[in-house]
Amino acid sequence: MKRLVILGGGESGIGTAILGKKEGFEVFVSDFGKIKPKYLDVLKNNEIEWEDGGHTEAKILNADLVMKSPGIPDKAPLIKKLVEAGISVISEIEFAARYTKATLVGITGSNGKTTTTMLMAHLLKQAGLKSVAAGNIGDSFAKWVALDDQDFYALEISSFQLDGIVDFAPHIAILTNITPDHLDRYEYKFENYIKSKFRIAENQTEKDYLIYDADDPVITDWLAKHPVRSQCIPFSISKQLEKGAYYAQEEINILIDDTTMTMSTKNLTIKGAHNTKNAMAAATAARLLSIRKATIRESLEGFQGVEHRLEQVLKINHVSYINDSKATNVNATFYALDSMSAPTVWIVGGVDKGNDYTDLFPLVNEKVKGIICLGVDNAKLLNTFSGMVETIIETQSITEAVKIAYKLSDKGDNVLLSPACASFDLFENYEDRGRQFKEAVRNL
Ligand code: ADP
Repeated sequence: MKRLVILGGGESGIGTAILGKKEGFEVFVSDFGKIKPKYLDVLKNNEIEWEDGGHTEAKILNADLVMKSPGIPDKAPLIKKLVEAGISVISEIEFAARYTKATLVGITGSNGKTTTTMLMAHLLKQAGLKSVAAGNIGDSFAKWVALDDQDFYALEISSFQLDGIVDFAPHIAILTNITPDHLDRYEYKFENYIKSKFRIAENQTEKDYLIYDADDPVITDWLAKHPVRSQCIPFSISKQLEKGAYYAQEEINILIDDTTMTMSTKNLTIKGAHNTKNAMAAATAARLLSIRKATIRESLEGFQGVEHRLEQVLKINHVSYINDSKATNVNATFYALDSMSAPTVWIVGGVDKGNDYTDLFPLVNEKVKGIICLGVDNAKLLNTFSGMVETIIETQSITEAVKIAYKLSDKGDNVLLSPACASFDLFENYEDRGRQFKEAVRNL
């Protein structure tokens, strides 16, 4: 019996444990921290051996195969030891993909992964295909493969998951964009991070596809120097293309195998240039899977978006309240402000990860009438934006922020929470921040 050791008892670890057990491995789960009770229950019910609060090396270094959860960096001493001992250390997507014959659509990028994955899953469902969204969303890919294997998976894939692949090859890969992120895990070299993202195409063949943003110079420059085997299908909102998808005069055009599909973006529920890109990427993948044009149009129009991503909360006195709590970096907030079509009261702030706000200046000048800084330390925001807008106010309370926004806004305006910062100063996480915002709006 082969021994599978799983490092990290979170969603991907527990899914891998279930699948490993089913596939006849002797499974051992080891977590340096505490394993959550709901996961412990699963381990106990499945009679899987585990430990938490530390790693017993003797029980780990005798593994035939190790699955490492994406949160553990390669430079961790234990991982180094395993690699030196010649033991294969892989990620959950690598493991799970070995045990399914399903068609995989793998989605990666710096921003837009979740939205594009949910959109892709929605398109597959509407087409009547047995399919789910997985990866960093909801139940793990491995758990689905073990308990209820599907015909199609839309997989949200982080660079950390890609760092642990060997043979993993999605039939369709989508690369949404690449901007610097998580550089602490990549020796502070942007190049290493780009390389990691492109591993999504590393094992693809001529029969597979890579759909990518042709407006992103990081992607196009890399592709020019490092060609891939798969068929490249670009999408663009700024230029007309002969193959792939492009946007012109409020229409998306998709050109695949000499057939063209056109649809208006006017009826899309998800707004903004970035969402047009996400829609183009998912619709192109759907066309490659031969999903009917009418189904694609109806699905895109019916897609309600994802919570905390430019989510329409309520209209009060003809003012729209929008929750974009997931915008934890400047690039995401750029697209949020860009998509505002009315004067906007902007709630911003939190834990600043060394933000450079310069790219936002033109948008703030054009669209923002008032700024509310919401964080423990608002000094940088006040320094940066004072003088650029009529009113700039700071607070440490989200209820207060929403009340101020209510006073500052007039009929027809928007109130946008798009923090450009992490949430850990005042909230548990971005979901908590988004939920508290919505709660405060509902209580107005
Ligand atoms: P991810 O899963 O990659 O973090 P999400 O879909 O959760 O991406 O979106 C994260 C943030 O980025 C949201 O604020 C969203 O409005 C914004 N966003 C979504 N799609 C894009 C895109 N294609 N380019 C830039 N920003 C985007």
